Amino acid sequence: MIEVGATGFFLCPRNSWIPGTVEQWDGKIAAIRPVDQNLYGRETVKVQESSFFSAKDEIMHEDVDDLLNLTVLHDSTLINCLRRRYLNNVIYTNIGAIAVALNPFKFDIPAYTDDKMVLYLAEGDIIEKNLPHSWAVAHNTYFELRNDNCNQCVLVSGESGAGKTEASKIVMKYLAAISCKEGGDIQKEAGRVVGSKINLTSPPLECFGNAKTVRNDNSSRFGKFMRVKFDKDGFLVGAHIVKYLLEKSRIVTAAENERCYHSLYLVCRGNHAEKFGTENDKEFRILTSGNCLHNKEFDTTAEFDEVCKSMVAVGISEAECESMWAVVASVLHLGNVSFVDDGEGSLVNSKSEFSLATAAALLQVEGESLRREFTKTQLFVAGQQIVKLLKPTLALDAKEALMKALYDAQFQWLVDKCNAILDVDVDGNWIGLLDIFGFEMFETNSFEQLCINLANESLQNHYNTYIFERDLEECRSEGIDMSMVAFPDNAPCIHMVSGKGGIFALLDEECSLGKGTDDSFLEKLSVAHQGNPFFQRKILQKSSFTVIHYAGDVTYEVSGFLDKNRDTIKDAFKLIVSQSTNALVSQLLDPSSEAKKMTVATFFKIQLKELMDVLNSTNPHWIRCIKPHPAKKPLMWHGPNVMSQLSSSGVLGTVKIRKAGFPVRLKVGDFLAKFNVLGKSVEEIFATGSLGSAMGQKGSVRVFLKSEAYNKLEHLNKQALRKHTQTVQSFA
Ligand code: ADP
Ligand code: MG
Repeated sequence: MIEVGATGFFLCPRNSWIPGTVEQWDGKIAAIRPVDQNLYGRETVKVQESSFFSAKDEIMHEDVDDLLNLTVLHDSTLINCLRRRYLNNVIYTNIGAIAVALNPFKFDIPAYTDDKMVLYLAEGDIIEKNLPHSWAVAHNTYFELRNDNCNQCVLVSGESGAGKTEASKIVMKYLAAISCKEGGDIQKEAGRVVGSKINLTSPPLECFGNAKTVRNDNSSRFGKFMRVKFDKDGFLVGAHIVKYLLEKSRIVTAAENERCYHSLYLVCRGNHAEKFGTENDKEFRILTSGNCLHNKEFDTTAEFDEVCKSMVAVGISEAECESMWAVVASVLHLGNVSFVDDGEGSLVNSKSEFSLATAAALLQVEGESLRREFTKTQLFVAGQQIVKLLKPTLALDAKEALMKALYDAQFQWLVDKCNAILDVDVDGNWIGLLDIFGFEMFETNSFEQLCINLANESLQNHYNTYIFERDLEECRSEGIDMSMVAFPDNAPCIHMVSGKGGIFALLDEECSLGKGTDDSFLEKLSVAHQGNPFFQRKILQKSSFTVIHYAGDVTYEVSGFLDKNRDTIKDAFKLIVSQSTNALVSQLLDPSSEAKKMTVATFFKIQLKELMDVLNSTNPHWIRCIKPHPAKKPLMWHGPNVMSQLSSSGVLGTVKIRKAGFPVRLKVGDFLAKFNVLGKSVEEIFATGSLGSAMGQKGSVRVFLKSEAYNKLEHLNKQALRKHTQTVQSFA
């Protein structure tokens, strides 16, 4: 019931749920004044009854380390608690076993500086105290690995810029620290060296695989799964990295206000710039394509030096480093090569002759061979070899395919090199750290977004299965009566994208047809999936289709799908590059690989399947990263954005289901030991607490309780213990 003077939360479209007081109420509409006027203004806001959630002061100020312990669980109390904590510089909050991390966009919060790690390192096998932090996740993961002797994984999720990569680094640092806490000096030192090498792979991987986007100044444009390996005694011994799908379009161009990969700018700042002809960054077309030459991250000579230093410290030789930068520089110069129409085919624009020659020199390949392959192509028709001249647009396509192939191969080379240095084969277990691109929904979405979103659908499915299904399963298997709680099942959506007859299959089929086009693919897709609840194509959608993803509806433009999926580069280029006199360059493109080349969709599907199989074989831990505000600045809060991230990451669902069921579980023995003053059997203890079956139940192995019931027993227990002590004392 609403009445004047009532307090509670109201749902305001601009700010989501915020605390307020009712000032007027006419039976239909309430005028509400925000409590926090600095944040939300002084004006009253009119809302309907359904947008008001009544709550007393203590509920509005409730602060918990674990959201499952909120007295009243509602979207409003949840977001209110997170906001209050965030504005107080408390960025971590648990939801049962899951850690939520709000990106603070600053590194100087005293409670989280590296020296505070010791507080966690000093804890026992499980961090009992409620100290939510990525360190706590790392700590518990490490001890589960040791105590249960099985592989673990930490799944870090969140949208772009939410803090996934930072969180992964925090976990990695902690794992390195905890694993060499004990043991002899030699073991400690060995572990320290391995840990430091693993951490040092970050700067080069970020330099070559990250870029500034509108959402994140240092956005990872590839997915990464790192297995951190430990020997039987729990000492850190090595690591292995798998990379997924580097965004290739960013090698040749950047969208407005974005940049290409950091390395392409740093090569202009480094000490080789003069030798490479890259001193003047403004001269390079790909660098200026997004009208954003400069960036907070990876933009200075000091950073160039830092990356080089890290590479050498990891174990990459000076000569290899130099070759890598030469390849990067060659991509810049190739970017400036342009073509003119000569009536029949195309010629290299005379103004860009120098760029072509420089690129060839840097790659140590024949410039004339490159020119020939840019402007001509050889076909075999009825056993006869025919040379076909390419018009400028096709010449440009051929050139860009080469740039992409070179850069992508070099990135893979870097990953392989890190693995060659860090990977070891020992008896023991590992912790998999997954830092993968978050769900993407842009103005225009293409093939890359479909791949990325498929990966996110699969991870969401894994999460659902684990948290929800296993939870219900667990309760049922112990004979607990759980009225079925429904959760959204996204398996049919995954099947529609990557299953038999799905979008990927149709795309591959269209790619294999000589005559297939993006449009013919779209028509077949529409016929095959019209009527599927996860698929939509409205009459006005001429060149796009929409997929109903768990985190929102995404419309994909089909233009370019076939080319991106084929991702072919002419065999002739592979041959030219393999004949380079530079040892590193000559390994980049394998001329014998054409026959076994898979489409991008198929390759990605296989990689994803492998990843999911691996994840399913481990014990999972989750860190859900949230971006509190799109401005990338500290202490700013955008309620509706946070709410939609909480919802799409499954956090809201988790809380609801846990609350609906029995969030507190104790082994029967532990339960009896803990509450033995209250009774000799579970039934007796329940009777003492007057707990009905809605408040608690005894399973075959464990006792299941509502949080309230648990709190009540705790309270009674304390009282009884106090009495007991007094009695004992009075006898003494
Ligand atoms: P994602 O990998 O999810 O796209 P990042 O991990 O790259 O996001 O984070 C984006 C930026 O946010 C970082 O460059 C950093 O400035 C800031 N940031 C993220 N996590 C933290 C953190 N725990 N502490 C301080 N700043 C952070
Ligand atoms: Mg990242």
